[in-house]
Amino acid sequence: MTETVSLPKAMLRGFTMKCPSCGRGHLFGRFLKVADHCEVCGEDFTPQRADDFPAYLVIVVVGHVVVPALLWMEMTYAPPAWLQLAIWLPFTLFSALGLLQPTKGAIVGLQWQLGMEGFAATRRRAVPVQARSSVGRTRDLSAVAQRAKAEA
Ligand SMILES: [Zn+2]
Repeated sequence: MTETVSLPKAMLRGFTMKCPSCGRGHLFGRFLKVADHCEVCGEDFTPQRADDFPAYLVIVVVGHVVVPALLWMEMTYAPPAWLQLAIWLPFTLFSALGLLQPTKGAIVGLQWQLGMEGFAATRRRAVPVQARSSVGRTRDLSAVAQRAKAEA
């Protein structure tokens, strides 16, 4: 039987750049290049469509840290502009680069768990009927039809 992975668990596995399905294989082949499939469980990652969304999220998160911190430092210490730039430009660059891959992994984990895009077809094949109906994600109409036929 295939294990049912919760949404937070799938996203956490993606955030740690592991396969959302088994949590052991690598999700990325290169820095932002998602692997075609998991080398451990064989899960197909080609349906993922994270696109620019991870970058938008990283901009929002890093911006909400850097801008208030920069303004606070300016209001409190009023350092010279070169010092502000020397602090906040590298901080912004490295925190954005550091968060980009884990964020993309979390988004791929989210898409995978919710069966978004092409993952829907993959999930229908992989997850047994009981597991699907127990999480209320996808209804198998053929099972419902069989039950109706048996009752008739
Ligand atoms: Zn895997």
